[in-house]
Amino acid sequence: MVIVGAGQGGLQVAESLRAEGYDGPITLIGEEAAAPYHRPPLSKAILAGTMEEAQLAIRGAEFFERQRIALLSGTRVAAIDRSARQVRLEDGRRLGYRGLALATGARVRRLPISGDELDGVLGLRSLDDARRIRAALERAARVVVIGGGYIGLEVAAAARKRGLEVTILEAADRLLARSATPFLAAFYADLHRSQGVMVELGAKVVGLDGQGGRVAAVRTADGRPHPADLVVVGVGIVPNTALAEGCGLACDSGVLVDDCARTGDPAIVAVGDCTARRTTTGTLLRLESVQNAVEQGRSAAAALLGRERPFTAAPWFWSDQYDVKLQIVGLSADHDRIVLRGSPQDRRFSAFYFRRDALVAIDSINRPADHMVGRKLLDHKAVITPEQAADENLPLASLTRPGR
Ligand SMILES: Cc1cc2nc3c(=O)[nH]c(=O)nc-3n(C[C@H](O)[C@H](O)[C@H](O)COP(=O)(O)OP(=O)(O)OC[C@H]3O[C@@H](n4cnc5c(N)ncnc54)[C@H](O)[C@@H]3O)c2cc1C
Repeated sequence: MVIVGAGQGGLQVAESLRAEGYDGPITLIGEEAAAPYHRPPLSKAILAGTMEEAQLAIRGAEFFERQRIALLSGTRVAAIDRSARQVRLEDGRRLGYRGLALATGARVRRLPISGDELDGVLGLRSLDDARRIRAALERAARVVVIGGGYIGLEVAAAARKRGLEVTILEAADRLLARSATPFLAAFYADLHRSQGVMVELGAKVVGLDGQGGRVAAVRTADGRPHPADLVVVGVGIVPNTALAEGCGLACDSGVLVDDCARTGDPAIVAVGDCTARRTTTGTLLRLESVQNAVEQGRSAAAALLGRERPFTAAPWFWSDQYDVKLQIVGLSADHDRIVLRGSPQDRRFSAFYFRRDALVAIDSINRPADHMVGRKLLDHKAVITPEQAADENLPLASLTRPGR
């Protein structure tokens, strides 16, 4: 078995192949120098300086040895030859496969504007990126974050915690426009403003001005310069689909897979940020989360062994900013009603989203127990009314009983 991409999803495929009882050779190929590591802390504890790099590894070296997983780090796969069932490495070597998993992740989206190449303009995806940003934060006074998505907001929080002047420029009329409800977005705009961050909405960036090769300011469409000695661009990611496209696999904003992580080629599966999933209802789902990479990794390993293990759990995600922990479960798009449990003023609440009286998602702020129960509620498709959701006297756990 060959796995391309030694990140969260690739490692999970390897681990799950062993858990499923596969005893043959496994080769995990990754272009990064580091062994598979946790990416979420990069924009949180690593930037804040409260976590050591050594704590990032998902598994220690002895794990790979014990599980007989051959890890080829610093090695890039250049092409896939499906008819010969081989991958070609950048150095020309070829490796044959019986089953192949693509777990190539994604790269940061670049801004199509002048000045993108100036020193001090950085994106965040890898450990190397985080090192560069952390070093820059130590020297910077004024930070501009372009993009009010989760990564931009987490970087802003880390920079603010270090006492720097921080501006967030977001082109849309609210934060988190792609990934959260207007209600949650307004909560986060208030949170950042209360911490002293300048949050500018409807601020379309048109250029970056430099001085001696270094960034000096970000220009918005209204002509205003926003002075900066560090600019972090967080305007989304682009799935790494070149290998899949190069060998003729169907892609549509990601390598197309089904609920079992299967591509159109029975010998090839794909997992994680590089994929777009065609669900049983026919919709195309693109998720960028640890849970998605892990669950698809499990499905993919089973599929490579000819077993069906569909990923049907409700999607979940988290984000840490300042002392606020957000945990999301479910998909809130098209909700028609929100009810709250707890109080946004106290920064401890859960927002329950309903569509046609059915619970579809829960955002929990500093209420981890609600989140854990919420996952069960959604996975079991429990029947819960808006009144029950809002009633603090009614333990949520009592509503997860089967048969409701
Ligand atoms: C800063 C940051 C914070 C995040 N925070 C959260 C969070 O709080 N919660 C959450 O759920 N998710 C979070 N995520 C998202 C989560 O980390 C990703 O969804 C997850 O890592 C996806 O795993 P993956 O295996 O698909 O991709 P990755 O982990 O990106 O791994 C892909 C690997 O494949 C390698 N690769 C690509 N092409 C090739 C090739 N041709 N040959 C060899 N190797 C190749 C890449 O270099 C990379 O190492 C965060 C991501 C980032 C960047």
